[in-house]
Amino acid sequence: MKKIIFIITLTFILFQGFSQQTDVYHPCLFDETINNKKSLLETEQKIQAAIQKKFTESFNKASSHGIYIIPVVVHIIHDGGTENISEAQVQSQIQILNEDYGKLPGTNGDGNGVDTEVRFCLAKKDPNGNCTNGIVRIKSSLTNHQTYQRGLLKELSFWDNARYLNIYVVKSINGNVAGYSSFPGGPPDEDGVVVRHVYFGNTGTASSSLGRTTSHELGHWFGLYHTFNNGCGIDTCTDGDYVCDTPPQASPSFNCNTLNTCSNDIPDLNDLKENYMNYTPDACKDMFTAGQKQRIQATLDTIRTQIWTTSNLIATGCDSNYIAPTNCLAIADFVTLTPNICVGNSVYFMDRSLNNPFNWQWSFPGGTPSASTSQNPTITYSSTGTYAVKLVVTDSTGSDSLEVAGYITVSQPGIGNSVSYSEDFDLGIYPPSSLTIVNYDGGVTWELDSLASVSGNYSIKINNLINTNYGSSDELVLPYFDLTSSDPDSNVYMSFKWAYAKSDPTFSDELLVLLSTDCGVNFTQVFYRTQTALVTGPTQTTPFIPDSTQWKSAFILLNNYRTSTYVQLKIVNVTDGGNNLYLDNIYVGDNITGITSIQETEFETDFLVYPNPSSGQITIKFPEKQEGNVRITITDISGRVLKNELISVDNTYQKTYSLTNFSNGIYFISVEAKGIRRTQKIIFNN
Ligand SMILES: [Zn+2]
Repeated sequence: MKKIIFIITLTFILFQGFSQQTDVYHPCLFDETINNKKSLLETEQKIQAAIQKKFTESFNKASSHGIYIIPVVVHIIHDGGTENISEAQVQSQIQILNEDYGKLPGTNGDGNGVDTEVRFCLAKKDPNGNCTNGIVRIKSSLTNHQTYQRGLLKELSFWDNARYLNIYVVKSINGNVAGYSSFPGGPPDEDGVVVRHVYFGNTGTASSSLGRTTSHELGHWFGLYHTFNNGCGIDTCTDGDYVCDTPPQASPSFNCNTLNTCSNDIPDLNDLKENYMNYTPDACKDMFTAGQKQRIQATLDTIRTQIWTTSNLIATGCDSNYIAPTNCLAIADFVTLTPNICVGNSVYFMDRSLNNPFNWQWSFPGGTPSASTSQNPTITYSSTGTYAVKLVVTDSTGSDSLEVAGYITVSQPGIGNSVSYSEDFDLGIYPPSSLTIVNYDGGVTWELDSLASVSGNYSIKINNLINTNYGSSDELVLPYFDLTSSDPDSNVYMSFKWAYAKSDPTFSDELLVLLSTDCGVNFTQVFYRTQTALVTGPTQTTPFIPDSTQWKSAFILLNNYRTSTYVQLKIVNVTDGGNNLYLDNIYVGDNITGITSIQETEFETDFLVYPNPSSGQITIKFPEKQEGNVRITITDISGRVLKNELISVDNTYQKTYSLTNFSNGIYFISVEAKGIRRTQKIIFNN
């Protein structure tokens, strides 16, 4: 979309393997695999070097700065449930942060560590200088958060990260992750910390939490690594977490037992189970070391340099002289993630007004309805043009309004290209004119490849092996298609070949195909592969280059969308720092005739039967070679078994039967492979 800065956030390690295999609580998404998985990339090394330089310079000097105060805004992304936490719960988290980072006497944070001289202040003025309680509430399905959507989360709501620490509270993260954070020096518009509501604070929905998830994640935001990063390492100062006084630690600790997993430190000290940057439970964590404090302050003095300045504290209402009014007045504000739509489509508007108004009066010139009093209305636009949106909010003392001219743009959907479409990249022109590459983070993305190809000279690949921006997505957007141009008597489908290997058995990149029939406003996932289902070659830490046997075929039936004249398809890689993912021979069209009754929208292990109706001879076509034998069963409508045999699928991936003795009527063909049985209906009409 718009990001041009090449970033590295160390923060997003892979969740897929973890959550699928164990489905246990996952404390943090910070890259604990950084050591065995890949070396730090150049940008991250520069950031690390800058922090380290300052760290070394300041190590022997007493801190002359005093307290660093960090203005905080908390964005609560909710779906109307208990994840829409109370202001008291937010304040409990701010209090815990101040106890932990300040080692406040008599609190849980008063352990055997140091006062980092960092404090947190819930912002009292918004970026426009308005009075605020520092909390933004938005009703969005993004509350069920996937880390690759982290850019979208910030499009919902984001305050200048040079001036505010943005914290997002959500319902879930990739299923079962507690929280994650960006690292200093990452892309500004992805900066922030995301925490599940049940771990945010220690009251309300987090009453069984001690609130140290946020203390830990903010450690990353300040540039701290895990105490166990790089295992025992070699030098306790210059590798691992780059902090001398945290003893080396072989692996994360998930309980409060006393351990000593490394003996290469002198003196040989126990692992710091009490350290906030370990994975131990909240109950045994109560300290940052002096070295960690130095590193936090080095980050604040080199990278996050504006946020704690006196002028910024005054601007955000966090200076000690600011006297906040008893009540802040309501401030009207709203957002949509889809301001550009086609005629006939709808827009979901989200209220993000500040300070809890209780009445909403929307105006939507050009929309239907043209006015609404609901907090988060959905409005349909049936004519092309650009339209203003106005919101008036009211609280007990008065009202505020915001009008944005030209906020919504409605265009004609146009007519997509007729099918069929094919792209094999063999002209060597990249990107081909029919494809658009969307590289959200400006980093590693789809590229032409001449070392691997299904047939011909080229394929395209994305190099996940060198991509450390875990969770980021790269899209290959196909042109709009008019699927009404397909043969109504045949199947319309998308197919392509892919090849992939992992670099580590645990982690896997992801491959998705998304489809939109409303000009890209909403997308449906029609294909998804990760882990074993994505792999076509052996796990290797060297770049994967597939041979001719290491390609798989994807078939995606599009019959459900054949009345649409404007279908958009995109193929998406979500990186986990795995290995090369290749694509070739992308096709959208209708030249396999036959079936009418497949329910699934994808069928890697599925099959095609054609022609249908049939006059007697049918062909069962498999999308790929099947391992082992496949059982074929044909039954009539009464359930009588007419054929039942085991076959092996040959290199043509198909099997033809001559069934001319079957009488006219409906039959069912079942294919059973790898324990999965799939059935299709076929009509004989001799
Ligand atoms: Zn962490």
